[in-house]
Amino acid sequence: MQILYDRIRKDGIVRAGNVLKVDRFLNHQMDIHLFQEIGKEFKRRFEGEEINKILTIEASGIGIACIVAEYFDVPVVFAKKTKTKNIAGEVYTTKVESFTHGTVYDIIVSKEFLGKGDKVLSAEDHVLIIDDFLAKGKALDGLTTLIQDSGAELVGAGIVIEKGFQDGGKRIRDKGIRVESLAIVDSMNAETGEIVFRNEDK
Ligand code: 5GP
Repeated sequence: MQILYDRIRKDGIVRAGNVLKVDRFLNHQMDIHLFQEIGKEFKRRFEGEEINKILTIEASGIGIACIVAEYFDVPVVFAKKTKTKNIAGEVYTTKVESFTHGTVYDIIVSKEFLGKGDKVLSAEDHVLIIDDFLAKGKALDGLTTLIQDSGAELVGAGIVIEKGFQDGGKRIRDKGIRVESLAIVDSMNAETGEIVFRNEDK
């Protein structure tokens, strides 16, 4: 998606430790016009799929997921990150290791919003996951687990930026999960700021 490549090159900052900062347009200040283009592109890529719910994870995924959801005309559920322990029974929960913070946290989705029948997530749900980044795939693993636990069907994952030099994308696609990434970074250099995208010329 050339508009996204151009924006990442213009406003993205490559940090040491394989971190790409995109605070200027994606996950701190948010460029709504870019988000609309992202929404249209995910809609095009998942055309023909039955999707009736979008699942994301707080915080950075929420803004993107809400705009994307307008194009699918479906509700958004976001998994909450929590340290609360006394929630068993009412929620689906799993652990996620944070790439950016190096910590492990719990994520939860209320059973009311994911699962069978009149619930947040149910067996009748056909779920598209939306997130800002795919690195080692831990966030995606966590969201996939919540969907499986709820009995809902995972249609696939729409990712804005995948860091193709980290192993998450390959590992998750190898499990048979459809992952559509709008920009795949094959390499980035913190010293020069150079970013190479996969298939940029195609
Ligand atoms: P994963 O779980 O795939 O290792 O990492 C995905 C999550 O970590 C994303 O939800 C995103 O918030 C964060 N993340 C991973 N890599 C980066 C990065 O290079 N830049 C930013 N801004 N966030 C990242």
